[in-house]
Amino acid sequence: MSVFSSLVGQDHIIDQLTTAVSAAKSGTGSQAMTHSWLFVGPPGSGRSNAAIAFAAALVCKENGCGNCVDCTTVMSSTHVDVERFNPTGLSIKADEVRELIARSSWSPSVGGWRIVVIEDADRLTETAANALLKTIEEPESHTVWLLCAPTLSDVPVTIRSRCRHVQLRTPSTNSVQDFLLNQTKVDKKTAEFAARVSQGHIGRARFMATNLEAQSRRKEILSLALSLRDVDTCFKAAQRILDIAEQQAESENAERDAQDLKQLQDAYQGTGRGMISGGAKAVKDLEKEQKSSATRAIRDNIDAALLDIATFYRDVLVMQVMQSKSSEILNIDLSQEIRTYAGTTSSKRTLEQIDAVLIARTNLARNAAPLATLEALFCALK
Ligand SMILES: [Zn+2]
Repeated sequence: MSVFSSLVGQDHIIDQLTTAVSAAKSGTGSQAMTHSWLFVGPPGSGRSNAAIAFAAALVCKENGCGNCVDCTTVMSSTHVDVERFNPTGLSIKADEVRELIARSSWSPSVGGWRIVVIEDADRLTETAANALLKTIEEPESHTVWLLCAPTLSDVPVTIRSRCRHVQLRTPSTNSVQDFLLNQTKVDKKTAEFAARVSQGHIGRARFMATNLEAQSRRKEILSLALSLRDVDTCFKAAQRILDIAEQQAESENAERDAQDLKQLQDAYQGTGRGMISGGAKAVKDLEKEQKSSATRAIRDNIDAALLDIATFYRDVLVMQVMQSKSSEILNIDLSQEIRTYAGTTSSKRTLEQIDAVLIARTNLARNAAPLATLEALFCALK
């Protein structure tokens, strides 16, 4: 199965990428291939998967067969010539970019290309973007840079003007549903439910479909919107969202953090005073990095919770303006509660509530304090 067949609802870009792969391999210097690419698409549309599939097709002898050693190692991020840089912190620093640039100049070991994939290129700091600029402008003849970001405007204009753009779409509910039925063992009802509530976010859809805890967490988050009566319930709801986000981040990160620390301790041959020189500093650096990664995970989880809450009010609005058309509802499992709630307010009020959720998301993205932002939000929603 071709590496491109794993891209959900993105048929429009496959032609562009396969043509570039053929051009790259023909050695004719065709314009269809270039050294710097920028993959943009909303979160969950699969922009980094598209970049990885493209990388696999470039190093695979059969243009991305999906089965050979080259394809499978690119997909599992272990191919020697394909580096996948996934920032764990809130930003990508200039030092990290300089290291990537240094490694990108090495000659390819097996295929004709060295490929660097930068996920979340929107997290490049200004100095990091400047460090990358010259490399992207005059790349080594064997190097390909694949950057990924949510939208074009998230990347500095100097960078994006030097890249060829690949625009992904939000996959349709039907294509996500088909993907879940093909790739997981879930039944049709679960696939439909997960595809609907995740609104074209493939990773969330898969997680929601296959994870019972995620399903109950989502239900609890949505029911918080129904619990708001006075300041006390609003503050409790804010604290609960933060707790859920922290617990989730901890369970996601705990295992990986422990593994990383163990590896480091092995490298420095011990713990505490038994470590060889430099060990204590390395452990401190790692702990700092893990803390920054946890902060980011908590913020991402709060954002996901707010998106869920936004879908609740979106459904309320649908009920209010379209009356009985419950087939348009995203949160089908709560349709009764949504209908009852919709009868108690006006569509004007619902629009204000949706606005309040979006404002809170914007503030969080600008590093506002999470608890205070959530408290202000729930007070505005009540
Ligand atoms: Zn292959």
